[in-house]
Order: sequence, then structure tokens, then C-alpha cells
Amino acid sequence: MTVVRLAEVARTHGEGATAVHALEGVNLEVDEGELVAVMGPSGSGKSTLLNLAGGLDRPTSGTVHIDEQDLATVRDLAVLRRRSVGYIFQDLNLVTSLTAAENVMLPRELDGVRSRLARKEAMAALAEIDVEDLADRFPDELSGGQRQRVAIARALVGERRLLLADEPTGALDTRAGDEILHILRARCDAGTAVLLVTHEPRYAAWADRVVFLRDGMITDSTSVSLVSAR
Ligand code: ADP
Ligand code: MG
Repeated sequence: MTVVRLAEVARTHGEGATAVHALEGVNLEVDEGELVAVMGPSGSGKSTLLNLAGGLDRPTSGTVHIDEQDLATVRDLAVLRRRSVGYIFQDLNLVTSLTAAENVMLPRELDGVRSRLARKEAMAALAEIDVEDLADRFPDELSGGQRQRVAIARALVGERRLLLADEPTGALDTRAGDEILHILRARCDAGTAVLLVTHEPRYAAWADRVVFLRDGMITDSTSVSLVSAR
């Protein structure tokens, strides 16, 4: 089953002579259990693509569906996003006044899950990526790599259908990066659809498919099994 589908999607910022065409004519589907890597130079539209896929931004034209629901007409987009979409942002977006555990609990609590259960889920998500001992620290008491892991735990908590990860290995060394990819791959193999932006062929090799963006357009798409013996 297709989890997210972008059809003829365009996103333009501004108007007239100064308009920036961040994306044009993009068609992309990610199925259950599929990991798709997005590669392309800086400014090619990778973050824009993820924001549109997760309903954080709206296309100028074209449609985005998550689980067959059109994001333009869905009744409560915020609820759909919170329940179905896990997002690891390039700049992490942790709440500085909340501890690591509270940051991970937040999307679940917003969704009506009781604090005790949310805390239990948060501890499990933190344990999954080996940072449960950091649960009661605030973001400014964590290193860059530790903050990144907390942001990843927040995206993993609950039963997300779609995980969107914008360079989630950016602040991590190779070994920690490999661990994160291992976790994303395991989620994927359990049925989650994953869209991963990365600059590193090393990490893209974990994907089923790689799409290449250039100037807002998908220029190529390749099945990883054709080019790599993972
Ligand atoms: P990438 O993630 O591949 O580096 P982005 O999706 O962030 O690329 O950006 C694609 C293009 O859209 C770039 O030219 C960028 O400058 C432009 N862009 C992105 N967001 C905005 C915005 N809010 N206003 C104007 N231009 C934007
Ligand atoms: Mg980006």
C-alpha cells in the first residue's frame, strides 16, 4: 500500500521575476516498508519535498496524499500529522524548556495519551537509540549528536506510518550514523514508509530506492539493489 503520494507537485516561493521554483513537476510514491533516499545538491528542493510530504507546507499546485487522504482537504491536518508522521528536522526543533524525555513525550501527550504511558513510550524510544540515561537533561545540556538522537526518538515514538528524516546523521560520526540507519531500516522493515534526505552514498545504500533532485526536479531514480550489494 502507498503511504505517501505526491502527484505533479510544484512549490513556488514569491511571485513574478523574483519567484523561486523550489519544486516542479514532482511525482513520488513511497510504499509501506519502503525506504527512499533523496539526494541532490544544496538548494535542489530536498527539504521542501519533505515538508510537502509531511503536510508542513502546501504545494502551489499538485496533490499530496497520505494513506489515500488528500492533505488539501483532510479535516484535521494537525492530527493526521501528529499521529501518522514522524519528522526529524534538519535543525532538530527540540523545545529548550523541556527535558529530553518530555520532548519525546510531547507529540503523544498532544494526542491525548496520558503522561505515565507517554513517559513509558518515551523511555522505550530513548532506550532504542541508547540515550535513556539522558532522559532528564535539557537540550542545552546535550552534545549535538545527543540532541540529534533525542530528535530521532521523538520521531520514532508512537506508531507512525511515515518517517521523514532530513539529514538525520548530520551531527553524528560514521558509527553513530550507521546505528541510526539501522534503526530507520528496522522501522521500515516493520512496515513504516521512510523518506530520507542524505548527502552520503554510504547511508543512501540502506535505501530501496534513491531519487536525485536537481533544481527542484527529480532527474533520476534508481533501485539500490541495481547499483550496490548491501
Ligand atoms: P535543499 O533542502 O535541497 O537544500 P530547499 O528545499 O531548502 O533545498 O530549498 C529549495 C529552494 O527553495 C532553494 O532555492 C531555497 O533558497 C528556496 N526556498 C526554500 N524555502 C524558501 C522560502 N521560505 N522562501 C523563499 N525561498 C525558499
Ligand atoms: Mg535542506
